Amino acid sequence: MSYQIDSNCIICGLCAQHCPVGAIHLGVDIYEIDNKKCVECKGHYDESQCMLVCPVQAVFKNNSFIKNGKRKNNSK
Ligand code: SF4
Ligand code: SF4
Repeated sequence: MSYQIDSNCIICGLCAQHCPVGAIHLGVDIYEIDNKKCVECKGHYDESQCMLVCPVQAVFKNNSFIKNGKRKNNSK
């Protein structure tokens, strides 16, 4: 499982500040998660901090996919 940030991101930077492994950085338009670095907060926190702190629920587990900047969940 890995994580993604969608176009709802308001570039507040909170997720990057709270990520214990520095896996989140400002990309071209919005913040981006480096899934090679992300450890899903294991060994640091019980919950994924990026999802927890985001004020606009822009972080999601990418069993969903993004089409035209909108999130679509294909798992349910
Ligand atoms: S799940 Fe945790 S380790 Fe992964 S990007 Fe989010 S805050 Fe960082
Ligand atoms: S916490 Fe949410 S809105 Fe803020 S930078 Fe991260 S993804 Fe974007």
